[in-house]
Amino acid sequence: MCKVIFISSTSNILSSPIEYLTGVSAIRGDLLRKELSIFTFRDLLEHYPLRHIDKTKVEKIGSLSYNSDYVQVAGKLLDMQMHGERRSKRLIVHLQDNTGIIELVWFQGINWIEKLLQVGHVYLVFGKVSFFMGKPQISHPEIEVYTPLNATGKSFLEPIYSSTEKLKSKGLNGKAFGKLTQELFKKITEKDVPENLPASLLLQYKLINRFDAFQQIHMPANENNYHQAIRRLKFEEFFFAQFSIQLIKISRHHFSKGLPFEKVGPLFNQFYENDLPFQLTNAQKNVIREIRKDTASGKQMNRLLQGDVGSGKTMVALLSILIAIDNGYQAVLMAPTEILAQQHYNTIAHQLKNISVNIQLLTGSSTAKMRKPILEGCEQGTVDILIGTHAIIEDKVVFKQLGFAVVDEQHKFGVAQRAKLWKKNLIPPHVLVMTATPIPRTLALTVYGDLDYSVIDELPPGRKPITTTHRYENARPQTMDFIKEQLSLGRQAYIIYPLIEESSKLDYENLMKGYEEVKSFFPEPKYWISMVHGKQPANQKEANMQRFVNADTHILVGTTVIEVGVNVPNASVMVIESAEKFGLSQLHQLRGRVGRGADKSYCILLTGQKLSADARERLKIMVSTNDGFKIAEKDLEIRGPGEIEGTRQSGALQFKLASIVDDKPMLEVARNAVAQILENDYELKNEENQSLKSYIQSQRGKTGWSKIA
Ligand code: ADP
Ligand code: MG
Repeated sequence: MCKVIFISSTSNILSSPIEYLTGVSAIRGDLLRKELSIFTFRDLLEHYPLRHIDKTKVEKIGSLSYNSDYVQVAGKLLDMQMHGERRSKRLIVHLQDNTGIIELVWFQGINWIEKLLQVGHVYLVFGKVSFFMGKPQISHPEIEVYTPLNATGKSFLEPIYSSTEKLKSKGLNGKAFGKLTQELFKKITEKDVPENLPASLLLQYKLINRFDAFQQIHMPANENNYHQAIRRLKFEEFFFAQFSIQLIKISRHHFSKGLPFEKVGPLFNQFYENDLPFQLTNAQKNVIREIRKDTASGKQMNRLLQGDVGSGKTMVALLSILIAIDNGYQAVLMAPTEILAQQHYNTIAHQLKNISVNIQLLTGSSTAKMRKPILEGCEQGTVDILIGTHAIIEDKVVFKQLGFAVVDEQHKFGVAQRAKLWKKNLIPPHVLVMTATPIPRTLALTVYGDLDYSVIDELPPGRKPITTTHRYENARPQTMDFIKEQLSLGRQAYIIYPLIEESSKLDYENLMKGYEEVKSFFPEPKYWISMVHGKQPANQKEANMQRFVNADTHILVGTTVIEVGVNVPNASVMVIESAEKFGLSQLHQLRGRVGRGADKSYCILLTGQKLSADARERLKIMVSTNDGFKIAEKDLEIRGPGEIEGTRQSGALQFKLASIVDDKPMLEVARNAVAQILENDYELKNEENQSLKSYIQSQRGKTGWSKIA
């Protein structure tokens, strides 16, 4: 490895404690650390302004309107009065220019502001205007003695930073912060903030250099420069997030050893030719081709398979599993719930009834007696396919030759559990991770960027779109009548209640009340109802579910335990009670339980009368589309990336400036740029990637950077 001539980051001036900066006393330093986590020069450099104000632009008080936002006005202080007592105490002053009067109010830090101001003096004021009884007002403005600038005609953009009341009381308001950044830029030069992107990239994407970007984001010469700075720094954020995650992927491509599946053998061929229950969609075929290629490569596959509810991911898994067995390996399929594991077992065992493979089911409720032969079979290699819940990754489960692992409905499984799978064989098995509901592509690239990525973007033919309606709870009787109609046609129905927390007593009470009510609409023995919820013992839950699957019951009343994957093609109605309490992806998952057979299906969302704007938006989206990928995009827009299930803990989403929602195109560009660099020069040996390499080495040991050669 070549030695890099680069002074280690610890001696960089940017690592200096913040007190080393002129203007930062011990007291201020303490507050900067406590209030804003600013410890070093670098932290200050990255404390970006919230906005800028043109210092030369002072507005007339008389011209302020309801449309005014943040403004700067100047005027003479007319009076100063304290109002109220103790907690409701506030300071009110009036400021006058030759066009009008504005009121300024402070609720906090009153005493030091009162000391600062003097009636009769002229002040410059900055803040957000609001109108009260037709009069303009600013609460908690920034205020300073007014010194008119020479009319040069040039604008001067002054940065405004976020600050806190405590810092303000020590003279560091949003504007005064700018003095610190000015001091900082007196101390640092381009050498301290070296370029970290290859020159060709800067050229190609018209990005300004790094030092300029920092300077211009704080103290832009003009608005255009400011936007260029933001653009450059956002790009950098995306670039390095992508770099670290793609590096993991590419290291695996280069260094991991995988089990080579040399052939497509008799089991696959026999099944494919004689037993395939339907024609595969083109999308399914493509994904199988991708998996085939990966598993033949001699490297370990780690692939994320995305597909909408009902797109037929299971068949892709099954065919891949057959290839594994054809090559002499064992395979596992792991599902997040017992119900789903059981169902996969039933379906797959049925589909493979003509194929000589040994399939076993292992879940938390398998008894010790059942377990023993299964575990032995896994160890001796006589079990070909083990289907189950996370029980199958417990340490006690040992395989002779585990070659392929499918994780269904990914987001209920953590990364740690995935890693546990890898350790089940000396050479790690190939891993196929399948999502329950689509994740927006941008999110997948950011959070699961270390995995290879496949999409099934096509539903099997002949599916009738599900009709979704939103009704208020007072329409429940009509809804029940509608269910009766459908039952009279021989169909079945789901009625789902929210279960916000597994332990919530209230949710269970609602479920029970709901169950009684449903029973009163659908009396025995004409109608039979199953109930399924998380507090039932597994065997009872399973039995109730099974009665519904066998069509022994007409209606399934339950909580979201039925959410994932359950397949009852004869069910044509899905009623979701208190639908406003569910998230979009959950609603979409639940809706996906119907429309699985040949019959026209319906989803009815019942809600209370009072709905938040967000809930209204969610319902509108559900009614307007059946497309899981569209819904996932909307979900991301409404809730933001941090709230999407399975991604909450991901550090990959913590950007200071960039947003994967608003800056989606840039994320794509950065991703491709990274991919290209890693493809051509994975070890960063080329001259032109040296700036990049130095930077990455200086970041070592920081956030999640893996080793680089
Ligand atoms: P998901 O992707 O949600 O896991 P499944 O694998 O459960 O979907 O498939 C949904 C239903 O569609 C199943 O009943 C399955 O047998 C059926 N199916 C899958 N692929 C096809 C196909 N190519 N043509 C017709 N039906 C299919
Ligand atoms: Mg599925």
